[in-house]
Amino acid sequence: TLTPEAALVDSLIASIPDFPEHGVTFRDLTPVFADGPALKALAEALTAPFAGRFDYLGGLEARGFLIAGAASLVSGAGVLSVRKAGKLPRAVLSQEYALEYSTAALEVHVDQLPPGSRVLIVDDVLATGGTALAAVNLIERAGWQVAGFAVALELDGLGGRAKLEARGIETFSLLKY
Ligand code: AMP
Repeated sequence: TLTPEAALVDSLIASIPDFPEHGVTFRDLTPVFADGPALKALAEALTAPFAGRFDYLGGLEARGFLIAGAASLVSGAGVLSVRKAGKLPRAVLSQEYALEYSTAALEVHVDQLPPGSRVLIVDDVLATGGTALAAVNLIERAGWQVAGFAVALELDGLGGRAKLEARGIETFSLLKY
């Protein structure tokens, strides 16, 4: 029993078997982003549980940026750009995290937000939680607070939510597969 907003988003998610590699089912939210009312409903659903408890949206490159921009307009909060390594032009803090066979890093401008700012992190899909946890570590190291993690789709059974909640991070997902 999904809410009407969740049902709308759910109806637009495309599932692509064996992308980007064999055995992975890729959950493609580009049809959600292409549908104005669905994108707005998603933005409202992800921010409502945290109303009054965040000052900024932390958008994770790249699909989190789209959600953060929409969530900014429905909530009035600005966007913290949490970027992949090497993209930001000024002094950065960098947080490495493990991928299956390598590592990656997320970065923010060190002085982007006032100390103590409350950041609601948003992204499209939560899988193992490695990306979200790196963002949490980065934001806390920068001297800001994590208000929570809000995601369109949580993939159950991959441990993402457990990882975040063990760190004390309130986690909200609109949909679970
Ligand atoms: P993880 O760090 O394992 O939680 O993976 C989350 C990141 O990878 C998010 O930024 C997602 O956009 C992306 N991702 C992981 N698994 C999938 C999937 N099955 N379909 C689409 N995106 C995914």
